[in-house]
Amino acid sequence: MNDPAIAELKDVRVSYGEVPALEDVSLTVYEHDFLGIIGPNGGGKSTLLKVILGLVKPQHGSVSVFGQSPEQARSRVGYVSQRSFFDRDFPASVWDVALMGRYNNAGILRRYGGRDKGKAEQALSRVGMLEHRSKQIGSLSGGEQQRVFVARALVAEPVLLLLDEPTASIDSTMQTEFYELLEELKHSLTIVLVSHDIGAVSVYVDKIACLNRQMYYHGSREITPEILEATYKCPVQLIAHGAVPHRVLKEH
Ligand code: ADP
Ligand code: MG
Repeated sequence: MNDPAIAELKDVRVSYGEVPALEDVSLTVYEHDFLGIIGPNGGGKSTLLKVILGLVKPQHGSVSVFGQSPEQARSRVGYVSQRSFFDRDFPASVWDVALMGRYNNAGILRRYGGRDKGKAEQALSRVGMLEHRSKQIGSLSGGEQQRVFVARALVAEPVLLLLDEPTASIDSTMQTEFYELLEELKHSLTIVLVSHDIGAVSVYVDKIACLNRQMYYHGSREITPEILEATYKCPVQLIAHGAVPHRVLKEH
């Protein structure tokens, strides 16, 4: 028996004007999945997450999340967007950033109550950042900031967590720590993580898919050399050495 389906995309097509981003993408995410989706830059990974969030509407195909429309399901979906980090002087503390995740729960006056603060405290503690709560967000390292962004997503108590390139621009020690955090979180959450970094992702996730406009996915950890080559449009040896040649991709 499979776990229940949490998100289902069928034959989803998205293009931005003339630029195709997703072509007939079908994907089912099941409860308790820790799914990694890899693919080259421009392959449609961010677009796919935005479709699940209801931020991008497909021109064709269907999307359901918890059996509802993405908009209706949004409050149960946590999202850490692909980002550039805050600079040093950004005027918000770690605490402020975490609490922002309660925005939709804060009532009409947008005042945070005891329950909101309790949730923010719990979330920061879960990601190991509670002791840094008073620091300016911009004074933290990339890896620490990323933990705070995860906390911000967690304070709304999502069932599904979407992470867009969460370890880009984090050094490798911090990356390992970050994936260890996800290993813990996956016990209570369904996680979909997208990344162009095959090496890091494939070690930690339970299932892996490849996306380059089209989706290659068999619901397991298996990715064959043929799938990788089809995804990256280049020989597997190059990919394995971390030298995904974007020059080659541009020619397509
Ligand atoms: P990835 O996250 O895998 O790098 P994206 O989903 O960001 O891929 O982009 C897929 C394709 O859609 C790219 O060709 C990109 O340039 C294009 N694209 C993405 N967002 C927009 C947008 N808002 N307007 C126009 N084109 C976009
Ligand atoms: Mg992206």
